[in-house]
Amino acid sequence: MKRILVVEDEDAIRSFVVINLQRSGYTVVDTATGEQALDAYEQSGGDFDVVLLDITLPGIDGFEVCRRLRAKSAVIGLIFLTARTQEMDKVGGLMMGADDYVTKPFSPSELVARVDAIYRRVQLASNSSKAESIVSGPFVLNTKSRTLHKEGRLIDLTQVEYQIVELLMQHHGAAMERTKILGEVWGTEVYTDAKIVDVNIRRLRVKIEDEPSSPVYLQTVWGYGYKWCP
Ligand code: CA
Repeated sequence: MKRILVVEDEDAIRSFVVINLQRSGYTVVDTATGEQALDAYEQSGGDFDVVLLDITLPGIDGFEVCRRLRAKSAVIGLIFLTARTQEMDKVGGLMMGADDYVTKPFSPSELVARVDAIYRRVQLASNSSKAESIVSGPFVLNTKSRTLHKEGRLIDLTQVEYQIVELLMQHHGAAMERTKILGEVWGTEVYTDAKIVDVNIRRLRVKIEDEPSSPVYLQTVWGYGYKWCP
């Protein structure tokens, strides 16, 4: 069952989102506040694949809900619904572990494509069957458990972050274009700005680099993209 939690205080938008997700085969639980969303998450025993989160909410905001959910699960898919394009920079700076964002107003097909893409990433976490380790410098990537260890220490990654690391490590030393990373990780129906790649890379550097401001492993290829350099 594809289970999704929708958090949106505007009734019209919430109904629109719920109806379109249900039509696409999702089982939807919807709430109007962040507090209710956290309660729904707890009551379900964390049994959601994806959470769609409005940012401006009456009580605690979407950023805080995102932070708390990410602390409970590295696997769950988290997508922000943002009110304005101008909010993108703010979202970028405060991603708090989210995997993607959709800017309002959005079409049903755009919304569903983005949710489907994140849902597939989440499913890969439990369905991955190939046992394989990639060893690179101090890192060991296990493609079966979809985990990354550095010097024997587990690094807590979201599924999207894991996917980026796996992609770059598989092509280590080779520059990968941002749009290529976007297509491989977020899916072929790309509605997302490549900026989301940069947001995730910044967050990854904080997690894996000794000195995130002078990255050694996750290097920028100026005007092009990124590469993995063990
Ligand atoms: Ca709102």
